[in-house]
Amino acid sequence: MRNGVVEVLDLGEYLVNYGEFVENNHELVPASYVVEWWQQDLAAAGADVQALRDDPAVDLADPPAREALAWAEEYDVPLHPKYTYLWHDLSVDGFEALADAVASSGRFAEADGAAIESPPSAGSDRTLVLPKTDAVTDALETLVVQHTQGEETVTVPDAVPLVRSLGFTADLERTWERLSERARTWDDGANSHRAVNETAPFDLQERAPTRVGNRMGRPEKSESRELSPAVHTLFPLGEAGGSQRDVSAAARQRDVSSTPGEVEVEVARRVCPDCAEETFRGRCRECGAWTKPRYVCPDCEREVDPDEAGRAECPRCETLAYATERRSLDLDTELRDALDAVGERDGSYDILKGVKGLTSTHKLPEPIEKGVLRAKNDVSAFKDGTVRYDMTDLPVTAVRARELDIDVDTLRELGYETDIDGAPLRHDDQLVELKLQDIVLSDGAAEPR
Ligand SMILES: [Zn+2]
Ligand SMILES: [Zn+2]
Repeated sequence: MRNGVVEVLDLGEYLVNYGEFVENNHELVPASYVVEWWQQDLAAAGADVQALRDDPAVDLADPPAREALAWAEEYDVPLHPKYTYLWHDLSVDGFEALADAVASSGRFAEADGAAIESPPSAGSDRTLVLPKTDAVTDALETLVVQHTQGEETVTVPDAVPLVRSLGFTADLERTWERLSERARTWDDGANSHRAVNETAPFDLQERAPTRVGNRMGRPEKSESRELSPAVHTLFPLGEAGGSQRDVSAAARQRDVSSTPGEVEVEVARRVCPDCAEETFRGRCRECGAWTKPRYVCPDCEREVDPDEAGRAECPRCETLAYATERRSLDLDTELRDALDAVGERDGSYDILKGVKGLTSTHKLPEPIEKGVLRAKNDVSAFKDGTVRYDMTDLPVTAVRARELDIDVDTLRELGYETDIDGAPLRHDDQLVELKLQDIVLSDGAAEPR
């Protein structure tokens, strides 16, 4: 904490898009009562919202208290979010204590703090002065009502929506004596949402009904995820190809005992359900159908069907059957077929690196084609076959050129013409709203390879 900050009362609002709920398989949760929602309520109540939007004298997102109160009254819509405080966070006891303080010692003051006898009834931008007690400051801090704490008093600017919500007239006359039993016991008395809707002359929505925890992103930990040494294709070469696991070298290699490019490796044992072709591939080369693993008992060599959990135990020997086998592969043909399939040549890349063996349970080799394209584009695969760069998924809505280590001309070239206030973009410290399609990469991800 610096610059005299003692406590952070609220971190504000955060937009969680629908996709996050889908991705995390989470039920939708109640949203905050925000300006966009309030505008829809206003339109549904018959107001000409477009005309209000077009009116240069009206600021729908940040209206003065007088206007917000007038809209609530005229259209019978909930009070504007700007003046809707976190009533659901305040206990009923806290609510009553704040109302009692307003009733017993509350007074309106001029902006300079001098007390005035009777406030103009039409005026709504008045400053409320309350005694500085724990009950008052706790309540205002819980509600997140902007105020100033002095030696003996607390002043609340723009306070008419607050006192109307608490059930007082604009002349500070209390309009209620007792809350109903239902309001007092709502949420076991921990939540004054019911209470305030009983005392206020307008409806109040829940300002922040859902809270989320957040983790701190660590941008400096972002990095490409790749194997060391690099791998282009998760295709097994056995002992061939040398320490580099060079697929092309392995395809040319000739042992005394074998034909060129012939390697013996452990791969999947699969069968095509349509044409019964036996293969190590995920897809049948003869007919294109998806193949199925074939489990064979290592003791009695009979074929075993896996159960629902994918466990294949031999009913006779009670041994686990395997769907892999040692098999001789013609790497030279495999590589040439792959190059033909993607229209590339051996010279399209410097080196195409495979692996010694597959570590996965089913040992299903990747199509070499994918490795050819990775090697050509100088990217390598992680052990799960992905090519990826891991970094924090951090929602960023606004940026400054200075923060991105670019100059403002670069931002303008990208189509940014104005800052968040609509002023022409000229300086590298102007805040700019990030366009929907743009993302900010960490320095490491932006480095040319
Ligand atoms: Zn087939
Ligand atoms: Zn067996």
